Amino acid sequence: MLTGAGISTDSGIPDFRGPQGVWTRNPVAEKMSNIHYYLADPAVRRASWQNRLSSPAWNARPNAGHLSLVSLERRQKLHALITQNIDELHQIAGNSPEKVIEVHGTMRKFMCWGCGMRGPMQAVLERVRAGEEDPHCLDCGGILKSDTISFGQQLVPEVIDRAMRAAGEADLFLSIGTSLQVYPIAGTFEIARAAGARTIIVNAQPTPFDDQADAVFPDSISELLPAILGSAAR
Ligand SMILES: [Zn+2]
Repeated sequence: MLTGAGISTDSGIPDFRGPQGVWTRNPVAEKMSNIHYYLADPAVRRASWQNRLSSPAWNARPNAGHLSLVSLERRQKLHALITQNIDELHQIAGNSPEKVIEVHGTMRKFMCWGCGMRGPMQAVLERVRAGEEDPHCLDCGGILKSDTISFGQQLVPEVIDRAMRAAGEADLFLSIGTSLQVYPIAGTFEIARAAGARTIIVNAQPTPFDDQADAVFPDSISELLPAILGSAAR
């Protein structure tokens, strides 16, 4: 499985790139996601912390689409779940953390740009709530950010390798809620297909691989996945 923003929109988390996306409507939001602006400009960091504080993801619950992937794992049919999402809704829904390959990291942890320390994001958000506008690392004084891959930041090679390997081992590859336009992760589709996997694309908008897929569904993800994969009781 490969999932992108589209699986979380029915949980109330906006798609950053889609037609109604946060970046499409607010270019300043894109600046906050760029590591160069973030490290260089305290004003960008202050805005980012306020943004994190008010993220809809903190109250988001997994939807029927997430739950159908849990049912797949319970039936021993899930080899790997590669996700571009940073919301951890797959793990909250009940997928094993070992199955989930988070290629863009997680917003539920922070990391220190100075010493690399990581910890729960809520601990830093508590400091922001208490009045610190741009909290720094308590150990080394370094700049803190969410443990996500910002624009301009390198992906983690070990994580990407694992995703590519898993794609090559699939006998069925589902791409769910992603435009399949950003490499290297879009390449998982090609690797799976080249290795002989059947491929299914579920996405509201067309993708560059629709012609090559065995099946393409533009339907609602939270309705379609339970229909084709089954659903899990909470
Ligand atoms: Zn540090």
